[in-house]
Parts: sequence; structure tokens; C-alpha cells
Amino acid sequence: MPIAMIVHGGAWAIPDNQVDAHKAGCRAALHAGWQVLAAGGTALDACVAAVRVMEDDPIFDAGTGSVLTSEGSVELDAALMDGRTLRYGAVANLRHIRNPIVLAREVLNGPATMLVAEGAEQFAQRCNIALIANEELIVERERLLWQQRRDTSVAIRTSPAQTAPLEMEAVVGHDTVGAIAIDASGSLVVANSTGGTPFKLPGRIGDTPLIGCGLYADIHVGGCVCTGWGESIARLAMARRTVEYLERGFSPQVAAETAVRQLAHRVAGGSGGCIVISPTGELGLAWNTRRMAYAYRVGGGPEYFGV
Ligand code: ASP
Repeated sequence: MPIAMIVHGGAWAIPDNQVDAHKAGCRAALHAGWQVLAAGGTALDACVAAVRVMEDDPIFDAGTGSVLTSEGSVELDAALMDGRTLRYGAVANLRHIRNPIVLAREVLNGPATMLVAEGAEQFAQRCNIALIANEELIVERERLLWQQRRDTSVAIRTSPAQTAPLEMEAVVGHDTVGAIAIDASGSLVVANSTGGTPFKLPGRIGDTPLIGCGLYADIHVGGCVCTGWGESIARLAMARRTVEYLERGFSPQVAAETAVRQLAHRVAGGSGGCIVISPTGELGLAWNTRRMAYAYRVGGGPEYFGV
């Protein structure tokens, strides 16, 4: 079975001056995951390695560098799903964890499927994962953007009906990260991690850690990871819907394009993108935002990346 990996670094109006950093961040994540797969490691380890690199890269809205809530703090969500066992591990509303994907992996191996807030952080301590100050996750760029948003109050108009399309893109989508890997044994794993949407209400959880919404994988059919305006993606149960398109015989590319079209048709203002894979490593990717950052490689083929 050829190994395969695809990562994304968010679907939204990525500004021109951040394009190179997004490309570099996606490539670094792909390299980290690929190194694991090429050494005979598991798809689970590869996804954790790739997402971890992006969580530590402050350009992305995941881990360090995440967007701030309306109250000016960081709240993180992440999830992993193993398409062979259908085991699923999700964490949400974390305020003191540097790498949520590492904790999601512990949850996947534990008795629960999802842990949130203080309970998740208590579980982290039991797993010897250090708690850090919320301020350590905050970067100057996001602090300044938060101040601007607070002053202009653009971001509190979260209804698509009230917000012009471009303004909407700036508010609702961001650089959430995601990864899909197939290892040499044919295991298929999907993963994602996010700080959510800028100026979100404290306690708000989007699609990212919700099974079937932000991600889904079934070894017999394929996998999908979504990014974009989480409320619209969740309403569509977009990741599961995309995997259903694969079940119906659509190619990954047609499944991705169909899901993104449905997102806009079925939900007012629905915006975002997705990465998709078949069990044999055929890929698809689509978005209806101005940009989406990605990188991928299959078997002995070349690496592709773009924004
Ligand atoms: N889907 C994420 C959320 O709504 C944001 C993103 O993908 O950029 O939390």
C-alpha cells in the first residue's frame, strides 16, 4: 500500500503577506508526517506529528498563535479519528494545553470519545501533559487584531445575512489545521486542530472536534477533514456527507467539490473547504473561500503545495 499524506492550513481570505508563511508551514507539517510514514510509522503518529508542527507554528490558528475569543483569551479544540477501528478522540475548549492534538490522542486511547474544558485539562495532567498559562498561546498579531475587532465590533456580527461576503471571510474562517495519512499497513487517520473563529463567544465550539462535521474516516471508504466557518460546516455534517459521496462512487476530487458546493447551497453564507482521501491514497481538495493552504504527497511521487 503506498503511503500518502495531505495537510491543510485553513480556508479563508489568507492575506498576500501571509501566503509564503502558510506554504512553508504546510510543507514543514507534511515533512514531519512524511518522515514518520517513510520510517514505517503509523498514520496516527504521522497525523499527530504533522498537526503538532502546525500547532507550534504561530502563523496558524491552532495551538500557539490562535485567534482570541471576544474576551481576549485562547480556547482550543482538536480531534483525531482512526478509520480502521472507528476510534475517535476529541478535546474542546482547552485553555492551558500547548498541543491539543497530543491530548486528543490520549482521549482516543482512553474510555471517552470527547473531553472538554476543565475535565479535559484534568485528564491531561493524568497523562503527564503539562498545563501552561493561556497567555503563552497568545501572539502579538492576534492581540492587535483582537483590539481592532473589539474597537470596530465587526466580529460580533456573526450572521451571514448581516455581514458582507468579504467581511464574512475575514471573520468566520481562519487557519485551522488538518491532516490525513495512510500508512504502509493501509491504516487511514484524520486529524485537525483549531483556535476556532476570531472573536468567538467564550465556550463556542465549531465543527473541528465534532465527529462527522470537522472530520470523518472509514478505512473502507475514505476520509475527510474540513475547515472554514464551523457553524455552517456543522449544520451540513460536512465530513460525513463527503465520505458518503465516496461511498456512492464519487472520486475524492468530485466528492470534495460537491461537498463545498452543498455547503454554500444548503447553508446561507456557508464557506470553507475540505481535504479528502480514498483508501488507496487518491486525493481531493476544494474550497469556496478566497484561499486554502495545503501540501500533499503520495507514494514515491513529488510533493505538491499551494495556497
Ligand atoms: N472550522 C473552524 C471553526 O469554526 C475554523 C476554521 O476552520 O478556520 O472553529
